[in-house]
Parts: sequence; C-alpha cells; structure tokens
Amino acid sequence: MEDNKEMTEGKRLEEELTFSFPHIGKDAPDQVKEAEAFCEGYKAFLDTGKTERECVAAAVKLLGDAGYEPIDFKKSYKAGDKVYFVNRNKSLIITTFGQKPVAEGVRLNGAHIDSPRLDLKPNPVYEKNEIAYFKTHYYGGIRKYQWGTVPLAMHGVVVKKNGETVNICIGEAENDPVFCVSDLLPHLAAKQNERKLGEGLKGEELNIIIGSIPFADETVKEPVKLLALKLLNERYGITEADFFRAEIEMVPAQKAKDVGLDASLVGAYGQDDRVCAYTALMAEVETKLPTYTTVTVLADKEEIGSEGNTGMNSDFLKNYLERLAQMEGSDVKDLFVNSLCLSSDVNAAYDPTFPDVFEAANSCYINKGCVLTKYTGARGKSGSNDASAETMAKVISIMEENGVYWQAGEMGAVDQGVGGTIAKYVAHMDIDTVDLGVPIISMHSPFELASKLDIYNTWKAFVAFYK
Ligand code: MN
Ligand code: MN
Repeated sequence: MEDNKEMTEGKRLEEELTFSFPHIGKDAPDQVKEAEAFCEGYKAFLDTGKTERECVAAAVKLLGDAGYEPIDFKKSYKAGDKVYFVNRNKSLIITTFGQKPVAEGVRLNGAHIDSPRLDLKPNPVYEKNEIAYFKTHYYGGIRKYQWGTVPLAMHGVVVKKNGETVNICIGEAENDPVFCVSDLLPHLAAKQNERKLGEGLKGEELNIIIGSIPFADETVKEPVKLLALKLLNERYGITEADFFRAEIEMVPAQKAKDVGLDASLVGAYGQDDRVCAYTALMAEVETKLPTYTTVTVLADKEEIGSEGNTGMNSDFLKNYLERLAQMEGSDVKDLFVNSLCLSSDVNAAYDPTFPDVFEAANSCYINKGCVLTKYTGARGKSGSNDASAETMAKVISIMEENGVYWQAGEMGAVDQGVGGTIAKYVAHMDIDTVDLGVPIISMHSPFELASKLDIYNTWKAFVAFYK
C-alpha cells in the first residue's frame, strides 16, 4: 500500500469508488489453519451421511449430544431452549428459541441433504449372460457418463413384510465389496464416441454389476442372480419381493479427501448441499441465546424440484411455523412477514478450464468466501426468487458486521445457467429469502470440490445470522 501523501488523485478515487472481493488466502492467511480444522468434522459428516436418511440420523445424534430434545408442541419453551422435529426420517427442522417472540420473525436457514445418485428401480435384480445386475433410475441432474467405472456403495432401507425396517449399507467398510457400472474400452468405443456426451452412457445403460458366480445347482434358471439374492438374504434377511418396499441409493464409495498439495480443497460426493447442511447444523448448535428464534431446515427432494412431503414444496415447514406461533398465542402471518431466510445452497464456482459458460465479473470463485446469489432460474430469471435489494442489504450487513468473507455470483452466464433452489418455496410463504452457500467445482459429479476457506466462512456467516 502506498503512503497517503504519495497517492495520486486517481489512485485515491480508485480505492474509494471501485470494488472487488479479496482472496481470503491473501487477505487473512491465518484462516487457512482454522478452516482446515473446521473441515475435519465436515469430512467425517460427509462419510457418515451419504443419503438424506443417514444425514438426518447423524444430525439427530449430534443434536442429542448437544442437549436438543424432540419438540413437544404442547410444552412452552423459553429463550435458549433447543428442540428438533424429524419429518419421516428424511428431513429435519431444528430450533433454538430466541429472546423475542416468534411473531417478530424467526431466522430461517434451509439447506438440502439429498444429492444426485443412482436409485434402484422397484424391481432391480436381473441376470444377463451369467452376470447379475441392479437396474437403476437416476435421481437428480447427473451427467450420466461420469458414473461409469466409479466404485459405488449401496445405501438405504428396506421395510420388510413384518414391518421391520432394515438399514442397508454395503461398500463403506474397509473389507466390504463395492459395485460398478461398466463402460467400453477405447478399442471398441469408436461408435460410442460418436454419441453426444449427454448420451455417453444412456439411462438404461446405468446397470450395476453385483455378482458373477452362479449358485451351484443345474436346475436353477438364473443361478448368478440367485447367489446374489442368497448373499443379500444372509446379510439382511431380505428377498427379491422386499425391493418393492425399499429405498436403495447407489452412491460413490469414495470417502471425503483433501485435494491439492496444499490440501486447500475438500473432494467428496454430495457436497451439494451437505456443505450447507453441515455448516448450518454447526452454527445452529453453537447458538446459545439468540435474539430471534432459529429455524434450521435440512430438507429432502431438492434435487428433483423439492416435491413430496419431505421436500420444501410441501407444507411441513409451514405447519411447523404455525405451531410455533400457536405455542406463544400469536398469528403465524406476523411470523412470516417479519422473518428472514437464507436458502443455503451451493453455486457454480468459476472453472478456468471452462471459461465460456461463466461471466467472469459475476461469477463466484473458490477461496473468496460464501456466495450470495441474488437470483437463480433460467433465461430471463424464470423460476427464480430474485431477492430484493432490501433483503440483500440485510444479509450483507450481517456478514460485514461480523467479518465474514463473502462474494456475489450468478449461476453461469446469461442463457447458460439453469438452476433453482428451495428459495422460491420459502418466499411463497411471504418470507424474505435469499440464496447463500459455497462455490463448488464439478457440481453434481461423483467427486465435487469445495474450498475449505469458503466452507469455514459459510459457517461464520450462519453463526452471525443466528446471533
Ligand atoms: Mn443444491
Ligand atoms: Mn444440486
């Protein structure tokens, strides 16, 4: 920095009138170590929660350890009390009661805990040419060609005929087998190479190999399939008919890893949007005696449009807020109109290898902090919440007053980006809402990248938001 006396008028004006977001590593190098330490817990959370149900279970355990209790709507709570509400084992609402009545508004933070993956079809098991397979139907926006030759783990639940629920998990323990979708060798791929990238692997080619040894009995029609079923039966007591009462998700078996010689990035499956879920959860737990009541939501089904009664396009959150208002004898409409919501979701980080799809001045970058996304949508902001200037101002001032590194970013260049979040569903309730989250490279791939400094500052933003 030049001395003030030597500063030219132009230089002075430049500093006063222009603006750009700093690189945290240059501006606050001390945060590198702090962010690293924070992300150890995050990586463990990613490895424990690879499905929405597993994330709910992991969060509930963490909440129990932190003194939270299941909410009882007949009870009355005082400031500082901590409760949670589980919606059908797949989404979760968490509250720390504030000093002000909820009629003066709550601080809402909504992230989602479902991620793109390969779901098993209802009747998934088959045998072809003496290999046993699972048939899949992909969930959410995946680039199908990325899912071939990737080790996959089997996660989910089966509700047996007798009503018993069995938790399935194969492929995570050190000595567990994994599963895989095959792809062609280059020597035989000349014709496949002519396909458009989006059809590199087609939906009905996402078949997962589960076995190749037959059950030794000449009279059996499909002995390889039978042996696979026998092994599943030995492990979980299930039969082929049980798949009709199941939700099985095939997800990357890879554990969360540090990426780069400087270990500055986290590489893992499902960071969209468990990165916001974890940071929101940790901020919620840390909140002791907030001014406004906190409402932290970990939602399901965002990746398929927030549909279903565990997604945000249902009334489960509205019903919860109504009950909060009823508990203190106020009108929920006052709660809605006075509340502020962060729709916490990831955005696409500028990728220097693919500059064409970004507009450099309005993109978010790794290591510049959490990204405030005014609008998402397609074409002319279609389907977007488009936060107001007033809402932007409120959230920006919360972050600036608390020394949070933040940046602004669009979802790609105009007419390139297509995307949506839960923001519009919360806004629909008459609540001021804006998107905020972590920039991600390779979003929706089996191995997404996020910067530790950005993750750390997103957590700091959420802590400040709840103060
Ligand atoms: Mn997301
Ligand atoms: Mn997504």
